[in-house]
Amino acid sequence: MELDAADGLRRRALELDAADALAGHREKFALDEGTVYLDGNSLGALPAHVPARMADVITREWGELRIRSWDESGWWTAPERIGDRIAPIVGAAPGQIVVGDSTSVNVFKAVVAAARINGDDRNEILVDATTFPTDGYIARSAARMTGHEIVACDPADMAAAVSDRTALALVNHVDYRTGRLNDLPGLTAALHAAGALAVWDLCHSAGALPVGLDAHGVDLAVGCTYKYLNGGPGSPAYLYVAERHQAAFDSPLPGWNSHTDPFAMTPGYEAAPGALKGRVGTPDILSMLALEAALDVWDGVAIEDVRAKSLALTDFFLECVRAYVPEGRVTSVTPGEHGERGSQVALRCADAPAVMTELIKRGIVGDLRRPDILRFGFTPLYVGFADAERAARVLAEVLR
Ligand SMILES: *Cc1c(COP(=O)(O)O)cnc(C)c1O
Repeated sequence: MELDAADGLRRRALELDAADALAGHREKFALDEGTVYLDGNSLGALPAHVPARMADVITREWGELRIRSWDESGWWTAPERIGDRIAPIVGAAPGQIVVGDSTSVNVFKAVVAAARINGDDRNEILVDATTFPTDGYIARSAARMTGHEIVACDPADMAAAVSDRTALALVNHVDYRTGRLNDLPGLTAALHAAGALAVWDLCHSAGALPVGLDAHGVDLAVGCTYKYLNGGPGSPAYLYVAERHQAAFDSPLPGWNSHTDPFAMTPGYEAAPGALKGRVGTPDILSMLALEAALDVWDGVAIEDVRAKSLALTDFFLECVRAYVPEGRVTSVTPGEHGERGSQVALRCADAPAVMTELIKRGIVGDLRRPDILRFGFTPLYVGFADAERAARVLAEVLR
């Protein structure tokens, strides 16, 4: 009976892979057949052409052109140029995204700037109570500096918690632990109805599903580029400032790179126009250009197709887990509803640390969120249905 089920699922996996229009993208990445890589929600895989591009950046642009490259190799304008490459993936028109610094630093810029934009008659900042910790730490510090109070609130309760005291809310689009997709359009509208600004963290949604920043009227957003955007370890993050807020956007980190004429080197600060206001200091060019090259894999890819495959993959993985894993050994904490699911599956498991160690030994690379969550991220550009079936089968072997 069990063997028949496995045969059926393996056959289905092969059929699904054969019918998958995105399957050809896998060969654009450096991956090995022995590993099922389900940790692209933590560190995306290396696009195979990036090393050659980096060799050119280092030997020619840095090694030969040296300082001329700031101009001749386009280094100086990389933050806004790469921002415009990320823009279509998250549904933003050009001129609203700048790349640089870490997500943590961009959370700081966004929260302080939103608090400044929204006046001082509002004294509360709502923060996603289940947030990735750095967002919460930084928001608390930002609130101390701007004289606001932090109100921690589950995203599901946020629409009810917002009031005329709320300056802004900082919310994760997809919860890093459970994989829950929060309602960006609905919550943004509810915040706006109360006169509050919406600041979204896209770390776990950008590159995995349509975000629609412009379409849903998001005010500010941040996100990292080393997860589903495959920019490389520590690749710079980005900041989105909706065009209508750019004039009022007042950066708490007005470094010389955001000056309207940086090389005038004047003592007085005068902000550059537009998204450039989000820049701070000299960009980390090597990481930035690795990210720029990595974004080539998105050429001709529609994010709607990525989303459709992501849901099909996570559905299929959950189906295989139900079929293979002994009853009661794991419980999914990822919502079953498509409208509430990101691109990962999180399974609660009593002995999760030992189980993940054993899975990795057997070539199934996911990760662990202590104490008891096994996380499996599905990056549709390089994970296939046979991978999902194999991961569930090996998980069942380990749990038996
Ligand atoms: C990954 C992640 C971060 C990482 O922040 P860094 O400053 O890049 O280390 C922040 N917030 C969320 C929601 C994340 O998922």
